[in-house]
Amino acid sequence: MNTTIKDRQLELLISLQKIDKEIKIFNQQKEKIPEEIESERQGVEKINSEINQLNGKIEQAKKERRSKELETQSKTDLLNNTKGKLPNVKTNKEYSAVLQEIENLKSKIGSLEEEEIKLMENIEECQKEYEQKLKEKEEEEKKYLEVKKIKEGELGNLNKHLEKELNHRKELATKIESKWFKYYEKVMDARDGLAVVKIEKNTCCGCHRSLRPQLSIEIRQNDSIIKCPYCSRFLFSEQMIGVG
Ligand SMILES: [Zn+2]
Repeated sequence: MNTTIKDRQLELLISLQKIDKEIKIFNQQKEKIPEEIESERQGVEKINSEINQLNGKIEQAKKERRSKELETQSKTDLLNNTKGKLPNVKTNKEYSAVLQEIENLKSKIGSLEEEEIKLMENIEECQKEYEQKLKEKEEEEKKYLEVKKIKEGELGNLNKHLEKELNHRKELATKIESKWFKYYEKVMDARDGLAVVKIEKNTCCGCHRSLRPQLSIEIRQNDSIIKCPYCSRFLFSEQMIGVG
């Protein structure tokens, strides 16, 4: 390996690293898409559950109202019966007892009717809210479908870019010496996606530790690729190759 070949290999490794960075970003963006779609779907689900709850509330109030109606009807029947007793009453005592019963029934019917009105108002209020929620649901569903469509489009684009980058990567990999390629992959894995770094002012730009001054010269003149003695990353200096 002479220095020119070494420089060329380093250039390829740097290109490979750039591609791997792109691939990582595309994959991160891809991962977010299902979450973004899911979050919109949950918005629709939340409204659906609110609608179901309101529906339950309305049904319950209607049931209570029917039961109050029946009770009012039965008390009204009883009232009419009691009123019918009046002409046949024999004593004053009996008369006042029947009158008292009539008063009691009237008062009971009065409060039952008030309760019915309250229930009706409650039903009306819930129904208004229900209509409002139905509209919201429609909007939310529309939004969800739009977002889903956009996000799926984005996913398609990302997959295209990704495929391109992966093909590019494959092509590059064939040009890199197998031992360097293997080493590169190992370091990428262990060193957080950064395997080829600059040496600047005798410092490794990967681990930021000071290197002996002689190393800068060796990096340029040595036939082989030099690695950082601390973090094991490939080192290059800007002067040796036209990369940065
Ligand atoms: Zn280092």
